[in-house]
Amino acid sequence: MSKVHFQEKFEERHIGPSADETAAMLDTLGLQHLDQLIDETVPAKIRTKRPLALPTAMGETAYLRRMKTVAAKNRVFKSYIGQGYYDVILPSVIQRNVFENPGWYTQYTPYQAEIAQGRLQALLNFQTMVIDLTGMEIANASLLDEATAAAEAMFMQYGLRKNKNANTYFVDSNIYPQTLDVLRTRAQSYGITLLVGSPEEIPDNDDIFGTLVQYPGADGTIADFGDLAERLHNKGITTCAVADLLSLTLLTPPGEWGADVVVGSTQRFGIPMGFGGPHAAYFATKEAYKRNIPGRIIGVTVDSNGEYALRMALQTREQHIRRDKASSNICTAQALLAIMAGFYAVYHGPKGLLNIAGRIHDLTALLDSSLRQLGYTQLNRTYFDTLRIELGELAGPLRAEALNQAINLHYQGTIAGISIDETTTYQDIETLVGIFAKLKGKTISDVNVAAAPVSSGIPRALQRTSDYLTHPVFNNYHSEHEMLRYIKSLEAKDLSLCHSMIPLGSCTMKLNATTEMIPVTWPEFSNLHPFAPADQVGGYMEVIHELNQWLCEITGFAKVSFQPNSGAQGEYAGLMVIRAYHESRGEGHRDVVLIPASAHGTNPASASMAGLKVVVVNCDERGNIDVADLRAKAELHGANLSALMVTYPSTHGVFEEPITTICDIIHHYGGQVYMDGANMNAQVGLTSPGLIGADVCHLNLHKTFCIPHGGGGPGMGPIGVAEHLVPFLPNHAVIEVSGSEGISAVSAAPWGSASILLISHAYIAMMGAEGLTNATRFAILNANYIKERLQNHYPVLYAGANGRCAHELILDCRAFKASGVEVSDIAKRLMDYGFHAPTVSFPVAGTLMVEPTESESKAELDRFCDALIAIREEITAIETGQADKQHNLLKGAPHTVAMVSADVWDKPYPRSQAAFPLPFVREHKFWPTVGRVNDSQGDRTLICACPPMSAYETSEV
Ligand SMILES: *Cc1c(COP(=O)(O)O)cnc(C)c1O
Repeated sequence: MSKVHFQEKFEERHIGPSADETAAMLDTLGLQHLDQLIDETVPAKIRTKRPLALPTAMGETAYLRRMKTVAAKNRVFKSYIGQGYYDVILPSVIQRNVFENPGWYTQYTPYQAEIAQGRLQALLNFQTMVIDLTGMEIANASLLDEATAAAEAMFMQYGLRKNKNANTYFVDSNIYPQTLDVLRTRAQSYGITLLVGSPEEIPDNDDIFGTLVQYPGADGTIADFGDLAERLHNKGITTCAVADLLSLTLLTPPGEWGADVVVGSTQRFGIPMGFGGPHAAYFATKEAYKRNIPGRIIGVTVDSNGEYALRMALQTREQHIRRDKASSNICTAQALLAIMAGFYAVYHGPKGLLNIAGRIHDLTALLDSSLRQLGYTQLNRTYFDTLRIELGELAGPLRAEALNQAINLHYQGTIAGISIDETTTYQDIETLVGIFAKLKGKTISDVNVAAAPVSSGIPRALQRTSDYLTHPVFNNYHSEHEMLRYIKSLEAKDLSLCHSMIPLGSCTMKLNATTEMIPVTWPEFSNLHPFAPADQVGGYMEVIHELNQWLCEITGFAKVSFQPNSGAQGEYAGLMVIRAYHESRGEGHRDVVLIPASAHGTNPASASMAGLKVVVVNCDERGNIDVADLRAKAELHGANLSALMVTYPSTHGVFEEPITTICDIIHHYGGQVYMDGANMNAQVGLTSPGLIGADVCHLNLHKTFCIPHGGGGPGMGPIGVAEHLVPFLPNHAVIEVSGSEGISAVSAAPWGSASILLISHAYIAMMGAEGLTNATRFAILNANYIKERLQNHYPVLYAGANGRCAHELILDCRAFKASGVEVSDIAKRLMDYGFHAPTVSFPVAGTLMVEPTESESKAELDRFCDALIAIREEITAIETGQADKQHNLLKGAPHTVAMVSADVWDKPYPRSQAAFPLPFVREHKFWPTVGRVNDSQGDRTLICACPPMSAYETSEV
C-alpha cells in the first residue's frame, strides 16, 4: 500500500525534479545519492552541524487558513494620515491582470529587449506620464521610494555642482521626516553638510551647491518656488522639487517654474499602501543631465527590420559598466509598480486624473469650510489635499473620538492633519465633520457642508494651465474591454516564467508560487498605512517578527533589518552599519573596502555611495579569490581597512575552500566581512554566512526567498548582522525600529516594502527546514546536471575541488568569436527556441552564466540543454564553413512572425529552421515580436517618451 500523507507537501510543488527524474539525473552524474553530490560540492568545514530550527512545514491550505487569522490582527482604519502614503482605488482590471498575474510579475528585467517589448512599452508609458505631469524633459523607469529618490537627486546635484568646493545642500524644512532622514544618511556618507530651514532664509553662501523643496509641503501648504529657483539658477545652484504627482494635474508643474530635478512617489496612482511598499518612485530632470540620471531609462530605437522597438538606454552609466563611478547603485527598482502606475494613467486618462485630483481638492475645501463654520482654526491657507487643525485642549478628545470611529489622522502636538484621498467620499467628509462637531457639543446639522462656499486652496498663480497626457495611449483605453485587451496585448509580447525557465545566473528565477502571492492583496495587508498606530498592525508585527527569527536561523545572525528595499540598498545599509560600528570604537577613519574583481557592479557602486574607497582584489586563473593578493592588500590597508565585500558561493559558481581563511585575514586587520547574499540559494540549510564568519549579509528576498522579479522590481534586501552590529541597524524618523545608536534611515518606510515580506514568510513557512534544505540541494543538482549535459559542447569555466559547480555555472563562448559568433548571438538565438538567455557577460565577458534553480523539472532542463546543444551545432556549421559567417541562424535571430511569413525570404536557411528548430518548439512556440534591436542608434538619439503619432507615419510609403 502506498504511504498516505496526512498533509499535502508544498515542497513537492516547489521543487521541480520528481523522484524518478532525480534518480535519472544522479545516474547521469554517476552518483547514487544526492548527499554524495552535496558532499563533493560544499566544503566540509563550513557545513552546518544540525538541521535548521524552523516550525514544521505547513501545507498551502493550512497556511492560507492561518494567515486569515494573522490578517485579522491588522485593523484597517480609515486613513487620513497622508505624509506620502494615501489610500487608493486600484482598478480591478489592473489588479487581476497585472498585479495578480504571473505573466507580469514573473518577468525578468528587460535586458533581452526582443522578448520584453510589452513591459518596455508599459515603462515608456510610465516615463511619458512622469515627464508630462512634472513638465520635465526626461524621466527614468522608477526608483525605490520617494526618500531614496530625493537622496539620488542630491547626489546628482552634487555631481553637477559648478563650484567643486561647495559642500552644503539646503533642504526645505517643510519636508516629510522620512525623506529628511534618508537624506541625512546619504549626506553623511558623501561628507555633504545638510542645512535645513525655510527656503526664504537660504543664506547667500558660496558653499551651497543645491537645494531641495517639497511641493506641496509636508504640512500641505503650496509655496511658489519660481523666484527662488531663478535666483539660485543665476548663482549656478540647482533645485530639486519633491512633488506629489497627482497634485500636478492641478498645480503648475515644477518644470514650468524652473526646477532642475523633480522626484516623488507614484503610489497614488493605484498602488496600495502595503504598510510602506512596494511603490514606484519617479525621477525626472533635464535632457542635459541624461548621463547622470540614476536607475534605468527606457528608450526608443529600431530593430533589424527598421521597425519601432524599445530597449533600456544609456546603460554605460550603470554600475555593471562603471563600477564605483556609476551614476548610482540602483539595480532592482520598482518596475511592476511603475507599470501599474502607468496603466492607471492609461486607464483614467488626463480627464480621469483631473477628476480624481479635482474631487480630492473639492472635498478638502468642503471640509475646510465646514470646520471653519464650527469655529475651528484651520492653519493651511493654501492646500491641495491636506488641512491642519489647531485643536488646543481638544487634541486628546479628538484623537479618542476618531479612533472610536476607526479613523486615523496625523497628529503633531495639538495639531491634527487630515489628508483626503481618492477613496474619500462625501459621506466620509460628513463623518469627519460630525466628529469635530461633537467635540464642540454640536452635530452635523449645525453645519452646511454641501452649501459651504468653496474657494480654491490652490493659489491662482500656481494653477496648472498646460496640457498633459495628450498622447493617444492615455486617451484610447478607457472602456474596460479596451483596457483589458491593451494590457493583454502587451503581456503577450513578453516572455516570463509562464513560458519557460529563465536561467539567469545570480538572479535565481525560481518558482513564485501562487499561494505565496495570495495574502499580499488582502485588504488587511495591502491597505495599512506604514505610520498607523502600533495597536492596529499586530498581524504585520507577527509576520515581521517571525520572518526575522527565521532568517536569523537561516543566516546564523543575531538580527535582521527589513528596511533596505533592494539588494543594492542592503549593501549600502550594511556598509553604513559597519561604518557606525568602526566610529563607535573610535576608528571612524577606516574607509577602505576590498572587493574581488568578480563582484557584481552594485558592490563597488554601493561602497562608493557609503563614502568608501574601493580596492580591487584579483582572482586567480581558476576563478577563486587570490588569497595572497587579498592578504597583501589587507595588510597594506590594514590601519584603514573597513570591510571586505564577498559573494559566496562566488559569482564564478564555486564554493571557495579558503573562505574561512579569507574572513580570518580581514578580521585580523580589524575589518568586517560583508557578504553579498545574492547566492544564498546555494547556502540555505547547508551552511550560513554567520557560520562562515561574515559579520553582515544582505538577502535578496526576490531571489532566494521567492518574491517575484516583477520585470525589474520590486525586491527586498534585508540585512542580517552579527551581535556586535545589532545596535547600529537603521532606525526611522517616524517609527522607532532600532536603538539610539542606530544609523538614520536608508528607506522611506520603516520596514521597507513590507507587504511583499508576506511572500518570503509563506515560502519559509510552507517549506520548513527540510524543504528549504532540499531546495538548496536540488538547486545544486540541477546546475550540475546541466553542467554534465553541456560540458562536452561548451567549455565550463571554473569548478570546485571535485569538479562540481555550486548552484550556477559559466559557459565559455569566447572561442566562437573566431568564427564571428558573439555571446549575444547565442542569447538572441535562444529566443527562437523559446528561452530567455542566461546572464550574458557577467562575471566574465563573453560567457553565459546559467542558474536553473531547484524549481525546474528534468524535462525543462533537458529542453534547455537540447536548445543549447542544437545552437552549438549551428555554430559548428559556421565554423566549418557550411553556414555563412554573416547570414546565418544566429546572426538572423531572433526571427519574428513577420520575418518568417514575409513574401520575400532571402536567408540562406529554411524558414522552418529559423522558427521551429526543435520538435518541442512547434508545440509551444513563443514569438519574439521584434527583430534584433539596435542599441547604439537608440543611444545616439535618445527618445524616452512615447513618440508622437506623426513618428509612426512613414513618409516614404
Ligand atoms: C542581484 C545581485 C545584486 C543586486 O541586488 P538588487 O536587488 O538587484 O539590488 C548584488 N549582487 C549580486 C551578486 C547579485 O546577483
